[in-house]
Amino acid sequence: MHSLDTYAADKIQRLEAASLMRRLKPTQRTAGAFVERDGRRLLSFSCNDYLGLSQHPAVKAAAQAAIETYGAGSGASRLVTGDTPLLSELEARLARLKGTEACVVFGSGYLANTGVIPTFAGKGDIVLVDELAHACIWAGAQLSGARILPFAHNDTDHLAALLAEHRAGARHAIVATDGVFSMDGDLAPLDWLSAVCEANDAWLLSDDAHGVGVLADGHGSAALFPEAQIPFQMGTLSKALGSYGGYLCGSQAVVDLLKTRARTLVYTTGLPPAAAAAALAALDIIEAQSALTALPLAKARAFTKAVGLPPAASPIVPVIIGEAQDALDASRALEAEGFLVVAIRPPTVAAGAARLRIAFSAEHPDAEIARLAQLVKPYVKGRP
Ligand SMILES: *Cc1c(COP(=O)(O)O)cnc(C)c1O
Repeated sequence: MHSLDTYAADKIQRLEAASLMRRLKPTQRTAGAFVERDGRRLLSFSCNDYLGLSQHPAVKAAAQAAIETYGAGSGASRLVTGDTPLLSELEARLARLKGTEACVVFGSGYLANTGVIPTFAGKGDIVLVDELAHACIWAGAQLSGARILPFAHNDTDHLAALLAEHRAGARHAIVATDGVFSMDGDLAPLDWLSAVCEANDAWLLSDDAHGVGVLADGHGSAALFPEAQIPFQMGTLSKALGSYGGYLCGSQAVVDLLKTRARTLVYTTGLPPAAAAAALAALDIIEAQSALTALPLAKARAFTKAVGLPPAASPIVPVIIGEAQDALDASRALEAEGFLVVAIRPPTVAAGAARLRIAFSAEHPDAEIARLAQLVKPYVKGRP
């Protein structure tokens, strides 16, 4: 066997033994939060399509019309010929939704964070990262070459202590966090983080991937903290907006610098026109239908009440199981009942903190949420 294949096969064997091997499963998503897998129809509590907009007729029609007008792909980097006119329209709409001067759209949320952080931090700078922040924030911090200082989850005292110790020796400081934590569903204390940042001349980045479209009438988690100064408001078009792509909302100067310097914008092809058009149509719906945007959180709260957990802060509710294999077994038991609730295992979450991550959608029928709650309740009771 080739040494490369030996290496890969050995590594897979070790992952399998630890219940940590992951495999792709072809999944056909359909309207109403249903998916089809292996010929079975399951109600999905694992999609981030919180408003069902990826399947919405107006969103799909907008994507189709954009393909007819502009073609399937964008053909080049945005700075060359890939800047379809839909993108500037989309950026203006996102800036308005977030209440910022300007916005820049990236190919994905992952590309946004890995582009933004290295544009504003490098050698001689510090990037302070919440320990539970998303993998692409860590990737951006690592790419930047700045010194990375992790702080305890949502612990503003720890953050302040790190800044007291390290801020003076650094040129610039970025503090990066999820606004809504993707695997825990809790919110960052953006008002407190902002106060610590302002006191230390640090720049706050909040990743609102799971807030936009579903919190504060769709404006996202930052709008829950109107006093907070958040110069980097990052998010994705790939979750509640039902499309694909990422963005950074901020001042005109920040956005202009990103458009000329962010490597994940300069050296990659522009977002396909259909993705931009779908996101625009989704924004129309989100801005017009605040009752719809409130549903995922309301449904998550009905669930947390039914199982005896503290009220959900977002549409994401974790049920901590512990060991990876136990989480897989719990997921399989729910699948037998017609529910898709994917087990989340290390390294996505800490060792010993494998979990069911339950994501609520506006489309989930209340009766099915009640049935899921009955099935999940025993796992909540057994929580360590
Ligand atoms: C999903 C997610 C991303 C990545 O966004 P994509 O558009 O899917 O690349 C970034 N940050 C957080 C917190 C996420 O949950």
